[in-house]
Amino acid sequence: MDYVSTRGSAPSLDFAGATLAGLASDGGLYVPREWPSFSTAEIAAMAGLPYAELAQRIMQPFVGDSLTPEKLLELTTAAYGRFAHKAVTPLEQFDEQHWLLELFHGPTLAFKDVALQLLGLLFEEFLGRGDQNLTIVGATSGDTGSAAIDAVAGRAKVDIFMLHPKGRVSDVQRRQMTTVLAPNVHNIAIEDATFDDAQAIVKRMFNDAAMTSRFNIGAVNSINWARLMAQVVYYFAAGLQLGAPHRPVAFSVPTGNFGDVFAGYVAAKMGLPIAKLIVATNVNDILHRALSTGDYSQGTVTPTAAPSMDIQVSSNFERLLFDVGGRDGLALAAQMHGFEASKAMQLTNAQREGAASLFASRRADTDDMSQAIRWAWENCAELIDPHTAIGLHAARVADLPRDVPIVTLATAHPAKFPDAVERATGQRPELPARVGDLFDREERCVDLPGDYDAIAEYVAAHAVPKI
Ligand SMILES: *Cc1c(COP(=O)(O)O)cnc(C)c1O
Repeated sequence: MDYVSTRGSAPSLDFAGATLAGLASDGGLYVPREWPSFSTAEIAAMAGLPYAELAQRIMQPFVGDSLTPEKLLELTTAAYGRFAHKAVTPLEQFDEQHWLLELFHGPTLAFKDVALQLLGLLFEEFLGRGDQNLTIVGATSGDTGSAAIDAVAGRAKVDIFMLHPKGRVSDVQRRQMTTVLAPNVHNIAIEDATFDDAQAIVKRMFNDAAMTSRFNIGAVNSINWARLMAQVVYYFAAGLQLGAPHRPVAFSVPTGNFGDVFAGYVAAKMGLPIAKLIVATNVNDILHRALSTGDYSQGTVTPTAAPSMDIQVSSNFERLLFDVGGRDGLALAAQMHGFEASKAMQLTNAQREGAASLFASRRADTDDMSQAIRWAWENCAELIDPHTAIGLHAARVADLPRDVPIVTLATAHPAKFPDAVERATGQRPELPARVGDLFDREERCVDLPGDYDAIAEYVAAHAVPKI
């Protein structure tokens, strides 16, 4: 499989190249040249497969010749063997219509582990074939950072620099990053910054020739295609359990950077019957506005109890706009440059109509979120985290026919955000034993101002050059 940039002028790459590249050299994101698809009979034959085998079947067409089926299965078996539940992503029933897909059984308690545990192994495999070093630079609102650090800590030929907005991640999230003391892990807290500021610094570094000529800069954010690919698998896993390919299923997805829900779009392109993808946002609702009115204009970020969704620029939305807008990279490049200059753009008719056929969107405020946490506790004896609650709220007001099952993606373990859960239910969720003595461990992190040059200088001083 060949990967092309959404902005039409970067060279195309194979899967291994796209995995190591991160952002394309024209500022775009890599997408497969075409969507592989499965027939109804092929999908039906996947029912009941163990997760690691299902993952290999779904991902093989994207991986192409970069990994043999045996090698890919070896990697998925290793990645998903680290999950604390045999089903990897178990499905729970709430009531006749509502289901919960638990994606938080990995080492750092959020769905990011599903993709990043595999990505860490892919980096190791592909870097092992040459003599290149990789410098990962990433921005996190909390969960990507901890999951990426867990996935690459101590691995050869990789350094990771993880930027987070100082004071805007939860204590559990911060400690899951800063207590990893492996020498290849570099945590940077950016002062007076939001996640979008941190992400903008990272994007600038990918386009900074002074940095890219010295270092192989790689990505662990969902701009990295391999992450989205790994997330497609659990849409199939849930769909198959609820009757796919013979019965359509809807998904409600707590959304920030649009990576997780874009993976659902890919699953639909591959033949999984999906009735609706509900994009659930908190009050930082640029995506809800874009999908409901066509107006994609950046507001200011309001900090909420669901910090991983406190985002006003959703990187992966560009992938959708490219695909539903006719795959015209140069036209999209012009549209995105306009957005970067003015912080606003209108979707084209083709983009709006293309999105409307599969996507719906809902916005949840703080009360909606708390009520959803309380509903899950009182009706189903289930503690859910604030991000998941936004998804559940959106699912419950979605107005879909009663016979369409709606699966809410549970994106984080409730103990990652205990304060909001306790406020809503009076119950304080406990950290699972697998995270160990997180609150007693030493932390290591540097504070830097939100100034591009200071951060580039820090990375350059601590990273290992290309070869
Ligand atoms: C990252 C994250 C999200 C948002 O996912 P995107 O792929 O960025 O849309 C939602 N919930 C939690 C808990 C997360 O960590």
